[in-house]
Amino acid sequence: MIIGKIKENEPTIRFFLDLSCNYCGKKVPGGILTSEKYYGTYSFLLEIDDLKKKYLCGICRDKKRIGTIEKF
Ligand SMILES: [Zn+2]
Repeated sequence: MIIGKIKENEPTIRFFLDLSCNYCGKKVPGGILTSEKYYGTYSFLLEIDDLKKKYLCGICRDKKRIGTIEKF
């Protein structure tokens, strides 16, 4: 997963975030890549916060796409 924008040849940081699916609660370790410049900024933190609130695992994301769940 990539958050923010990474320009070509820009130094990047890979970090891990404990995410759990907001629908089934399954824990999904997320390896996330972002640019060094973006990491730790205010908008970065907002994006992480948003991600935690809206995160769905692969299975639930598929279910949402085909309309089996309507919660999100
Ligand atoms: Zn799920």
